[in-house]
Amino acid sequence: MSTVVNEVNRVTSENNRADQPIYQKLCDAVQEATLLARIQHLLEWDEQTKMPKAGGAYRADQMAYMAGLVHQKQTAPEIGEWLDQLVDSPLADDPTSDTGANIAHLRRDYDKKTRLPQSLVEQLAKACTLGQQVWVEARNADDFKKFQPNLEEILCLKREEAAALGYEQTPYDPLLDDYEPGESTANVARVLSELRDALVPLVQAIAESKQRPDASLLARSYPVEAQESFGIAAAKRIGFDFGAGRLDVTAHPFCTGLGPGDVRITTRYDEHAFSDAFFGILHETGHGLYDQGLPRKHYGLPIGEDVSLGIHESQSRMWENQVGRSRAFWEHFYPQAQAAFPAALKDVAKEEFYGAINDVRPSLVRVEADEVTYNLHILIRFELEQALIEDRLQVADLPGAWNEKYQHYLGITPPSDADGVLQDVHWSAGLFGYFPTYALGNLYSAQFFRQAAADLGDLDASFRKGDFSSLLSWLRENIHRHGRRYSPAELVERITGTPLQHEPLISQLTAKYGEIYGL
Ligand code: ZN
Repeated sequence: MSTVVNEVNRVTSENNRADQPIYQKLCDAVQEATLLARIQHLLEWDEQTKMPKAGGAYRADQMAYMAGLVHQKQTAPEIGEWLDQLVDSPLADDPTSDTGANIAHLRRDYDKKTRLPQSLVEQLAKACTLGQQVWVEARNADDFKKFQPNLEEILCLKREEAAALGYEQTPYDPLLDDYEPGESTANVARVLSELRDALVPLVQAIAESKQRPDASLLARSYPVEAQESFGIAAAKRIGFDFGAGRLDVTAHPFCTGLGPGDVRITTRYDEHAFSDAFFGILHETGHGLYDQGLPRKHYGLPIGEDVSLGIHESQSRMWENQVGRSRAFWEHFYPQAQAAFPAALKDVAKEEFYGAINDVRPSLVRVEADEVTYNLHILIRFELEQALIEDRLQVADLPGAWNEKYQHYLGITPPSDADGVLQDVHWSAGLFGYFPTYALGNLYSAQFFRQAAADLGDLDASFRKGDFSSLLSWLRENIHRHGRRYSPAELVERITGTPLQHEPLISQLTAKYGEIYGL
C-alpha cells in the first residue's frame, strides 16, 4: 500500500516538475497583461481626477489602444495552449490550491475573453470613454438627449458582446457573470425579490413612525477642508494605509488598484451635506482595505485578486454601514467631529447626531440613500437595464420609465434627469450587470458581520475605544488573504456555514431602526 502511495507521489512530483516551466510561462504572460491593464487604469484614474477637458478625445484613443493591447495579451494563443497542457496536470488537481485556483480561473477567463473579437473590445472601450465624457456634460446640463445617442451605441455594442459570449436564458446573464462569476439573472431576481418583500413593510413602518430624527443638522455648514481632514483621519483609524494609497476628488466616487502598494480612492464634497463625503470616504476605504489586504506576492494572478464585485462591495458596505453608522463608532469619533465642525455641531448631542446619520427617507440619489431604502434604488436599475439589454425598452423612453419606477417603489418623482436617470456613471461606462452586485454586497456584508461578531465577541466595545483592528484582522484572515481562491458562493458558505440569505440584513435593519424609530 505504502509503495503504491510512494509511486503515485513520485509520478506526481515528476509531473509537477515537468509542468512547472509551462505554469511559470503562463503566470509571466498573465502578469504582463495585468501590468498593462494597470497602466490603462492609471490613464482612467487621471482622466477622472486631473485631466483637462480638452484632453478627452486623445485620451479616448489612448484608452482604446490600451484596451486592445491588454485584450491581445490576455487572449494570446500560447496562453490557450499552455492552459490545455496544464488542465490534466497535478498542478491543477486541487482547485483551492494556489496553482489549481490560478489555472481554473485563467481557463475560465481565457475562454470568455477569446469569444470577443478585438475590434469589438476596441469599439466598446472608445464608445464608453466618449460616453462617460458626454455623460458628464449631459448631467451638468440636465440634458438626457445629449447623452441618448451615446447610450444607444453602447447598448448595441453590449448586445453584440452578450451574443459573442453566448447565453441560454437572457443576454443579461453573460454580462452579470463578468462581475459576479457564477451568478444568474434568475437567481439574483429571486434573492432581490425576497429582500424587497421583507424591506417594503419595514420602510412603510418607518415612514409612518411619529418618532423622527432631525437630519437637517447635517446640512449645516461643514467646511470642505475640515471634511477632508476628518475623512482622512477616520480612514487611517480604520486601517487604510496612506503610504500605499491616496484620496482625490471626482464627480463619481470610486476605488481603483493601480499596483501592489498603490490603491486610489476618491470622493466628492458638498459643504452642506456632511454624510455624502464622509460615508462615501468610509465606503471607498472599505474597498481600499480589501485591495490593500490581497496577497501581494500573487499580484496580477487570480489568487491575488478580489473574488467578485459583490464580495468587494460587502467590504465597503460593512465599513460604511455596520461600522460607520453604528452608535459605538460615534462614541469614539463624535468628540472629534465636534472639534472639527464646531459651528455645526457644538449644540448637537451625540444621540441627535446618531439619529441624523441614520435618517431613513425615500430619496432620489442612490449614492446618498440610507441603508434601508438603498436596495430599492438597485432594484429599479436592475429591472431597467435588463429591459434595455433585452431590447424591451428604448433609450428614448428610459427617462420616463425611470421616473415611473421611482414613483412606484419610492413614491417620489425626480424633478430633473440630472437627479434621475443621469445620476450614475455606470451605463455611460458600459457597466451593464454591475448594479445588482451592490445589493449582493449588502447581503454578504450583513452575513459576514454577524459571523465576525459571533467569532470576535463584543465588537462594539472595541469600536468605542477607536479600535477596529480585530474586525480588520478577521476580514484579512477570512476573506482578503484568499484572493480568488473560492467563488462568492463558496466563500459565504465557508465563512458563515450557510448560503447567501436575506435574513441577516433584514434582522440587523429591523433591530437598529426599530430602536431609532420606536417601532
Ligand atoms: Zn462600492
